[in-house]
Amino acid sequence: MISICDVGPRDGLQNERDVLPPERRAELVNRLAATGLPRIEAVSFVPDDAVPQMAGAEEVVAGIERHDGVEYAGLVLNEKGLDRFRATSLDRMNLTLGATDSFNQRNANASLDEANERASAIVTSRPEKTTVTISVAFGCPFEGPVDPGIVSGLVEHFRELGADEIVLADTIGVATPGQVKSLISDTSAQGFHGHNTRNTGYANAYTALEAGATILDASIAGLGGCPFAPKATGNIATEDLVYMLEGDGVETGVDLDALIAISEWLESVLGRQLEGQVYRAGSFSRE
Ligand code: ZN
Repeated sequence: MISICDVGPRDGLQNERDVLPPERRAELVNRLAATGLPRIEAVSFVPDDAVPQMAGAEEVVAGIERHDGVEYAGLVLNEKGLDRFRATSLDRMNLTLGATDSFNQRNANASLDEANERASAIVTSRPEKTTVTISVAFGCPFEGPVDPGIVSGLVEHFRELGADEIVLADTIGVATPGQVKSLISDTSAQGFHGHNTRNTGYANAYTALEAGATILDASIAGLGGCPFAPKATGNIATEDLVYMLEGDGVETGVDLDALIAISEWLESVLGRQLEGQVYRAGSFSRE
């Protein structure tokens, strides 16, 4: 069975203009946990002034009503984030760094080497239940194409340090399926994080599975983006991904109707039509 990680409460909401209070964000996490999703990225431990949408991560965590079988994750960029993560009850750390100098400068005020050094120290101190996500692995908004050799080198390095999971992220939604196929199979990365900026997100996710990935990131209703990546739009929508996979006989363990109900709720919370299509079109019974 493949595992879908819903990153809506983090990657999704951090790009919304409206800032949702921590209790609303916790409510979203709790609603998602009731759908059978095996993993939810609930918060990001970044400074409040850098990403106001993610302020109060500890309050969000305090509002989580734990569901059995759900792994709750938090995003960490540096030592400060690590300290905050460690003070919570979250299960999995998602340690993120970019594959280029310019992206790390914007996102973490560090060169690639500095970001790599920081991340290496963190992974060494806590390799278990640590996902390393390599952002802009398929293309950078500032530097353009990214050398696959750099990405492979990073994957190998963090695997040697003991990180138990590596995810390759198409942060700005530029990848195409052939590229995903070769980078996932060459690196044996376990996960793929895709944005649907150029409508290739679902084809990329499907290809990632065929290439051996077992973890796919997606965001409820297709919320998402990245405030540090200009013009990056939403993640692939969790319910659209589940619809596609289940229709093809790929078990996800997730209740599609329950996801759709959450997207309808989110539409009213955010007051606008969201990117996902299945919640608007409805599911389709094959029985
Ligand atoms: Zn993303």
